[in-house]
Formats: sequence, structure tokens, C-alpha cells
Amino acid sequence: MPHYQITVIPGDGIGPEVVDSALEVLEQTQAQYGFDLSYITYDFSADLYRRTGRKITSEDMDEIGKTDAVLFGAMGLPDVRGPEGLELGAQVEMRAHYKLFASLRPVKLFNGVPHAIKAEHVDMLVIRETSEGMFAGLHDEHAPSNEEATDRMTITRATCEKLFEVAFAEARARKQRGTPGRVTLLHKSNALRSNVLMEKVFDEVAAKHSDLESSKYYIDAGSMYMVTNPERFDVIVSENIFGDITSEIAAGLVGGLGVAPSADVSLTHGVFQPSHGSAPDIVGTGLANPIAMILSAAMMLDWLGQKNEDENLVQAARGINDAVEQVLAQGPRTPDLGGNGTTDEVTSAMLKALRSLAPSTEPVQA
Ligand code: ATP
Repeated sequence: MPHYQITVIPGDGIGPEVVDSALEVLEQTQAQYGFDLSYITYDFSADLYRRTGRKITSEDMDEIGKTDAVLFGAMGLPDVRGPEGLELGAQVEMRAHYKLFASLRPVKLFNGVPHAIKAEHVDMLVIRETSEGMFAGLHDEHAPSNEEATDRMTITRATCEKLFEVAFAEARARKQRGTPGRVTLLHKSNALRSNVLMEKVFDEVAAKHSDLESSKYYIDAGSMYMVTNPERFDVIVSENIFGDITSEIAAGLVGGLGVAPSADVSLTHGVFQPSHGSAPDIVGTGLANPIAMILSAAMMLDWLGQKNEDENLVQAARGINDAVEQVLAQGPRTPDLGGNGTTDEVTSAMLKALRSLAPSTEPVQA
């Protein structure tokens, strides 16, 4: 049976709670769909840093990089800051170390999830560039000052080409499942030199994929359309900080962070984590919504399946998505979605839904 080794980093706050839930779901899919996962768990967290000063190192990441994928809960606590006053995040370190240039954030309107918009059919994938853009200068040398501080936005052709190829590949794969097959660039080329280059490269890559549609909006107008007419979007691609903000607007449209998964990927490495943070305000209440974490675990299976041409993993990811649709439609739902269910109750409902949804094909014998 195919075997994959997964690094698990539960992290802070509700991270460990939702990771436990996702691991239960993965356990069940292994038996049902025919694959084998083993786990190595690391305690990298803001809490560990507060207690011991220990944080993730290059050597740690070299070791972790030998495993097949990373499942990450959430990291960061508001009162724990590094020397420069910034929140700590192993996910930010891993993005840099593994050169994870694309953060994939699917955003879908599920039946049963209360939402604030008139739209009925929202199904988009926001792709945020994560290796440069507005965060390019994170490690620049600088003299700390009380009077002035500068950040740097850098866009490179090489990263844009890879990023847009991923965007068009995702649009093509999604089109097979019934979406329009359209990639939209959100940018600010009327005011930022870096974005002039980004737009130019986008046009070049789009021309190579003329079987798919492409469109472009300035980030300000695009943000408005996101709220007034989100159904027009399929795959959205954007620079680092614009993509960060865009993906949270999109998550807010469809019911919030509790149903928003994400995957930070390169062509070789993948880190899978919910879009939400550690939510210290609800830690220990048993009310954290595990769905975003479970959907992130499904993205991990899909990514591993595509990468290793393992159809059982791809089917398992579909099975988890179907089970999520069923549970969100029928309940129980956690309070962030207007319900009164607990993390444990949602997890149990997920396991039950998975059992009732037989695999659509017999597991492929390896
Ligand atoms: P970060 O900067 O680390 O992304 P954040 O400041 O954006 O974090 P979150 O930790 O994501 O904040 O929490 C924002 C709000 O959403 C909080 O009120 C939190 O309780 C709620 N929230 C986040 N995730 C969940 C979840 N899985 N279930 C229920 N509520 C959640």
C-alpha cells in the first residue's frame, strides 16, 4: 500500500484542537480509500518560544522537507513577539525556506452556511503569491527607527511565470469539474512599477493558454466586485499582500474563516493549514470549527495524489469534500456558523458522513 510521511505541527491556540479533528478524518479515509499515512509531530509554537526561546531553524526545515507534506494547525499568539516586534510564524519561515510561492485558497459557498451576500453560487480559488511582493524585504538589513520605516515590494519574472502557470493549470483542472475556466489577475499596475511587470508577464502566460479565459482588474475595483458580484470569479491570482487581503474578503463572503482552507505550495513542497489563526479567544471552549483544517487536509491528499499519480488520494480528497458539504448542510455546525455544535460533534458527523459515502471507485491496487 502506498505510504506517505506527514509532518504535523499543531501550533498554538485552537491549532491542536482542529489538527486532532483532521487526523481522525484522515485516519478513516486511509482505511476507506487504501493508503497509509504516518506522522512526525513537532511542537513549534509561539508558546514554545515564550517558554524556551526555541523556534524553527533551517536544520529543522531541512529535516521536515524530507517528509511528503506538512499539516499545520495555527501559530502565533498576540502577546508573543519576536525581537523586531512581529508575530512569530513557522509558516512564514517555511514559505521562505521551501520557496513556497503560491498559496491556494479555495472559497466556496456551502449550503447551510449563513452568509452576508445575495449570490448563490460562489466557487473560486484565490491564489496569493507568497515568496516576494510586499513581503520581499522581510529580511532586508535596516536600522530600527522611531521616525521612519520602509517595506519593499519586489516582483520577479521567474516567480510570476511559475505562479501564473499554476493559476492556469488550476483553472483547467477546475473547468473539468464545471467551473468557467477563467483566471483573473488583481493588480495595481497604474501606480506600482512592480505590478506593471506582473501584468506584462500575466498577458504573456495567458496568451499561451488561449483555451482558457483571462481577465484583469485593479485591486481596488476587484475588491469591490468581490463583494458586489463574487459569482464572476473563478481563479483569482494576486501579489502577496493583495492576495492576503483578497482571500480574507473572499472567506468573509462565504461564512468566514471557519470554512476557509489553504495550501502553500511550490512544485516540490506543500504546507497545508487553515486560513484562520490560533483564535486565542475561543481556545479550550471546544467550539473551534474544524472544517477549514479538515478541508486543508483534503487539499493535502489531493496535492499528494496529483504529485504521485495516486488516484486513491485524489478520491479520498473528493470524499472529504463531499462529507463536508453534507455536514454543513445538515449540521451540526459550530457557533461561528450560527450553530451550537462542538468541535467533537462536527468531527463525529464528518466520520459518519464519510462512512456513508462509499468511495466512488474501488481503491486502485498499488
Ligand atoms: P492571524 O493573524 O494569525 O491570521 P487573526 O488575527 O486573523 O489571526 P484569527 O485567530 O484567525 O485571527 O481569529 C479571528 C476571529 O475568527 C476570532 O474571533 C476567532 O475566534 C475566529 N475564528 C478563527 N478561526 C476560527 C475557527 N476555526 N472556529 C471558530 N472561530 C474561529
